[in-house]
Amino acid sequence: MSWTDLRSDTVTQPTPAMRRAMMDAEVGDDVYGDDPTVKALEAAAAERLGKEAALFVPSGNFGNQLALLTHCQRGDEVILGDDCHIVWHETGGAALIAGVQLRTVESDRGVMPPDAIRRRIRVGDDIHWPRTGLICVENAHSNGLVIPLSVMAETAALAREHGVPVHLDGARLFNAATHLKVDAKEIAQHADTVMICLSKGLAAPIGSLVAGSADFVARARRNRKLMGGGMRQAGVLAAPGLIALNEMSARLAEDHARARTLAAGLAALPGVAVDLDAVHINLVWFRLPDGVDGAALTAYLLERGIKANPPEDGLMRLATHWQVDDAAVERTLAAMRAFLAG
Ligand SMILES: *Cc1c(COP(=O)(O)O)cnc(C)c1O
Repeated sequence: MSWTDLRSDTVTQPTPAMRRAMMDAEVGDDVYGDDPTVKALEAAAAERLGKEAALFVPSGNFGNQLALLTHCQRGDEVILGDDCHIVWHETGGAALIAGVQLRTVESDRGVMPPDAIRRRIRVGDDIHWPRTGLICVENAHSNGLVIPLSVMAETAALAREHGVPVHLDGARLFNAATHLKVDAKEIAQHADTVMICLSKGLAAPIGSLVAGSADFVARARRNRKLMGGGMRQAGVLAAPGLIALNEMSARLAEDHARARTLAAGLAALPGVAVDLDAVHINLVWFRLPDGVDGAALTAYLLERGIKANPPEDGLMRLATHWQVDDAAVERTLAAMRAFLAG
């Protein structure tokens, strides 16, 4: 059976071109700085993100934690949204690795109100206070919304005013850039450092990058080794990463269009609630009618070759990506319609 996998964009498999590039990649020992393909990927990412340098890391989670470790001192406070990935989905790593305290701001669907950030910034010499070491923002947010550039700019200005750096979790930065119709660097300019994932909608098998100043990246390179992320002939992974960055980033509008088609089709089903204005990227969130058995729904879809994560509290998420074509969207809508019709 050929599967339609809507669980996430992390399920994307490398494209045929990526597999060929992996086969042919020129490699060396990257811990010695000898891998030309890794170097090419890091240079290309720095260029795309408008930063001096970039560092190849195993995952987005690793990249975020590396940024916290490199920006902060132990005991520092990091200001970030209460619904962000670093708080929710990184295994509490901030306490364990960087040894920092996460000071959350109640996020308004991914937007941290600048006033709320301002009230939490602690700089000065009061011996009771932790030092604010970093502010983290996320764009696109993992709730599927793109944060407006004006909010990014306001947060950056506020941080600069207090001498606090900003880290951007840009796991889906190219989705955000596609939605805003700007270059990724237009978003990244509002942060000192940025993490991007190659292994989500960009379809690389593995890998993320952290970009920033040359000095920051040099310190991050040392910390990457400390965290066990020094990779040897990593050119075999950087080669598909270059295709992800250079080619796959240019086709995300297709995934976004299919997400909108899927969302509109779901909205037309009886009792299904979709906020169509909230479908910015490739993620579609929707609420099922009361009383729907989530486990029965996902089992029904699976029998028809469609993989989906079960709803949580009636809320369900589907993701589009390069392996979800128009026919897959239609098949999914037909299956949902049939299931809900009983
Ligand atoms: C997926 C994701 C990450 C982590 O990426 P992994 O490569 O899965 O570790 C970080 N931040 C956000 C917003 C994400 O969506």
